[in-house]
Amino acid sequence: MIQQITVLGATGSIGQSTLDVIARHPDRYAVYALTAHSDVDTLLQQCLQFRPRYAVISSEADRDTLAARLAGSGVDTDVLSGAAALAQVAAADEVAVVMAAIVGAAGLLPTMAAVQAGKKVLLANKESLVMAGGLFMQAVRESGAILLPIDSEHNAIFQCLPQHKRYFDRAAGVSRILLTGSGGPFRALPLEQLAHVTPEQACQHPNWSMGRKISVDSATMMNKGLELIEACWLFDAGVDDIEIVIHPQSIVHSMVQFSDGSTLAQLGNPDMRTPIAHALAWPERMDAGVAALDFHRLAELSFSAPDEQRFPCLVLARQAFVQGGSAPAVLNAANEVAVDAFLQQRIAFTDIARINSEVLARAAFSEPATLSAVIEADLGARELARALI
Ligand code: NAD
Ligand code: MG
Repeated sequence: MIQQITVLGATGSIGQSTLDVIARHPDRYAVYALTAHSDVDTLLQQCLQFRPRYAVISSEADRDTLAARLAGSGVDTDVLSGAAALAQVAAADEVAVVMAAIVGAAGLLPTMAAVQAGKKVLLANKESLVMAGGLFMQAVRESGAILLPIDSEHNAIFQCLPQHKRYFDRAAGVSRILLTGSGGPFRALPLEQLAHVTPEQACQHPNWSMGRKISVDSATMMNKGLELIEACWLFDAGVDDIEIVIHPQSIVHSMVQFSDGSTLAQLGNPDMRTPIAHALAWPERMDAGVAALDFHRLAELSFSAPDEQRFPCLVLARQAFVQGGSAPAVLNAANEVAVDAFLQQRIAFTDIARINSEVLARAAFSEPATLSAVIEADLGARELARALI
C-alpha cells in the first residue's frame, strides 16, 4: 500500500534528502504535503515534481506568489500559509508518515501536532525535543505515535540498541551510549584564532553538508550538546550514561556498549539519506542511493575525548539538562538568536557561548507544564539574548 507523507521543511537539507529517497520508491510513498518558510522557487519545483495535495509556506504574500506560479501547470496543489496550516498537514487523517525537518523552535508546534495525531514521526528537528522533552515524550506515549530518530547519531544508537527494547535498559545489558561527533571545522584551530572565524568558515563542515544553523552548531559543538539532551529523552538515559567521543572522520555514527564487554557500532558514509531511508522503511530496509563503505579505502578511524575548554557549549548543554525545567528551552532559544547574529556578522564566533551562558544563568528551574509555558520561556530567552547582543 502506498503511504502518504508530509515533509515539514521540504526545501532544506534534510527535506531535499528525504525527497531524493522518496523519489526512488514511488511504489511505496506519495507526497501529501510539502512545507517551506520562504523559498518559493524550490517549493515550486518540488510541487511540480511530487504533485502534493498541499503546499504550505509561512507568509500570505509567498502563498499568493506560489499559487499564481502553479496555476496552469497542471499540478493540482492547494497552497496554504501560516502556523495552523502546518499543524493541519502534519495531523491530517490521510497522512501516515511525517518528516519533521523544520530547523529550530519553529518546528515544535507542527512536530507536536504530528505526534499528538499518532503519526509515524521521523524526527530531524532535535530542537523540539530539547525544548519540550518531557511533554513531547508524554505525547508520544499517549498517542501511540512511532518516533524514529533521523539525527545520524541517534539513528545509529537506535540501530545498535536491543531490538525489542530501544532504550537505555540496564536489565537488557546496555551499559553505555557512545555519542560520536566530528569536532567540526575548528577542532584543531589554535584557540586564539576562534574569535576571528567567519560564518563561511564555520559553515564549511569537513564531512557533512547541512543547513547553516546546524553547521554553526557543529562548529561550537552546541549541536553535540543538543544531541546529548536529545539522546537522554529518546532513549530514557541519564547524562552520565552517555559519553561524547570525538571521531573526526564521521564514519562511525555512534555506538552502544553492553555489560558483557561488547560494543556495537553503526557505520556508513556521511550521507543523511541512510538514516532517512532506515527510518522510512523501518523495520524493513530499502535502497537509499548511498554507496556502501569501501574498507580498502578507509585510511583511518580515530577517536578522542572532547576538549571542553574549546567547546564550552557542550558543558552548557549538560548543565541545562541537569538543571531541568525550562533551562534546555532557554539555552536553545539563546543559541538560535546568537547563531543568527553570528551568521549576520553582528557578533564574534566566541560570543555565541558567552551569550548562551549569560542567558542560561537566568533560566527558571520550574518545569513548564504546557507548550505555552515552553514558548513563553523561549520568547523570554530570545529577548534577553537580543539585549546582550
Ligand atoms: P535547513 O536550514 O537546510 O532547512 C530548514 C527547513 O525549515 C527549510 O525547509 C525552511 O524553509 C524551513 N523553515 C525554517 N524556518 C522556518 C519557520 N520559521 N517556519 C517554517 N519553516 C521554516 O536545515 P537542515 O539542515 O535541513 O536541518 C533541519 C533540522 O534537521 C534541524 O533541526 C537540524 O538540527 C536537523 N538535522 C539536520 C541534519 C543535516 O544533515 N542537515 C542532520 C541532523 C539533524
Ligand atoms: Mg547529528
